[in-house]
Amino acid sequence: MTRFDAVIVGGGLHGCSLALHLARKGLAVAVVEKNWSGRHASGVNAGGVRTLLRDPAEIPLALAAREIWHDIGSLVDEDCGYRTSGQLAVAETAADMARLEARAADLAAAGYSHEELVDAAELYRLLPALVPGCAGGLIARRDGYASPYHTTRAFRRRAEKDGVTFFQGVRAENFRRADGLWRADAGDARLAAPVIVNCGGAWAGDVARALGDETPLQPKLPMMMVTARTARFVEPVVIGVGRPLSFKQMPNGTVVIGGGYLAAGDRRTETTRLNFSALAKSAATVRDLFPHLGRLPIVRCWAGFEGRTPDDLPIIGPGRRAGVFHACGFSGHGFQLGPVVGRELANLIADGRTDFDLTPFAVDRF
Ligand SMILES: Cc1cc2nc3c(=O)[nH]c(=O)nc-3n(C[C@H](O)[C@H](O)[C@H](O)COP(=O)(O)OP(=O)(O)OC[C@H]3O[C@@H](n4cnc5c(N)ncnc54)[C@H](O)[C@@H]3O)c2cc1C
Repeated sequence: MTRFDAVIVGGGLHGCSLALHLARKGLAVAVVEKNWSGRHASGVNAGGVRTLLRDPAEIPLALAAREIWHDIGSLVDEDCGYRTSGQLAVAETAADMARLEARAADLAAAGYSHEELVDAAELYRLLPALVPGCAGGLIARRDGYASPYHTTRAFRRRAEKDGVTFFQGVRAENFRRADGLWRADAGDARLAAPVIVNCGGAWAGDVARALGDETPLQPKLPMMMVTARTARFVEPVVIGVGRPLSFKQMPNGTVVIGGGYLAAGDRRTETTRLNFSALAKSAATVRDLFPHLGRLPIVRCWAGFEGRTPDDLPIIGPGRRAGVFHACGFSGHGFQLGPVVGRELANLIADGRTDFDLTPFAVDRF
């Protein structure tokens, strides 16, 4: 039996970020990952570092996360491909614009200023290649994007340098509690720790149940596409308002397209089935907004497994049983939150306090 201070189930960005922050507080930490770090959502997502249009409950964490992203190299020694490009929601119609105006008014009333309405003239200054006739937009100028796989790998490497033990390619299972410790098997290893943390992504519902918490987590499989390279035409990440869309042009000229259409899949075999007619709708939206891309080839499509809650807010905080914590159910927007959730959960576990109100994310809210 190998004794740790904390065992983390899941080596995605959230598991690695938490491990890194706990290790820096002097805890002995093990991360168990059934595949490899970054195999699932954390390595295959769209890389959006977005505070724009977040649920109000998530805004304090998202703004704090963004500050970390702006100086991510000082935390993990690599720049993670992070770029402050801005994220811009485009109102194609007057009705879309009215929605954005209502959102901006709500945020201003709540005391936030990170989202800014832009009129049509500013919209076309920011997006000169946009199809004529759009009404305006809403921008978070300090948002951006990063490279997801590089980010997760950077967090894992930094956590390893800080002393975290990784067990990769083995599933954490047979969870049980005895003598004040949680015990789990990871292949041939027998692990024990007073604290066990569920960072299990799309599999977190199973892990939660084994640790004594029922959750309504369901898998969600967002789809992505990437095009061939094309001449630079857009800097901000572009978000749809009236129809699902999120896309960005990467520094190498490719266009990465996502934004809400889902694949089917099997969590047991870890295989996904893409919905090509939905992907075609996504591509058509891009072509409608930027007609010059109409003949640009799409070179690759994929989908990733994510855990989703009914209110699309994550589950962050203690479980029902002693020593259990969760960080899961990020519902398609947890990459941006990775650096800060790890830090705050580490504060909670090691010091018993966090500066953030985690009650909207309680596991027993459902
Ligand atoms: C296609 C796509 C696009 C997205 N785009 C964005 C975006 O632009 N911006 C954004 O903020 N978010 C985005 N997201 C969401 C984001 O990727 C996730 O919220 C985030 O990566 C979740 O990280 P995680 O560490 O919780 O989960 P994961 O990265 O899924 O890691 C969980 C890990 O737990 C492991 N695991 C589970 N059970 C066990 C077990 N019993 N034993 C051992 N290991 C186990 C799994 O193998 C997995 O590797 C997107 C997601 C997808 C799929």
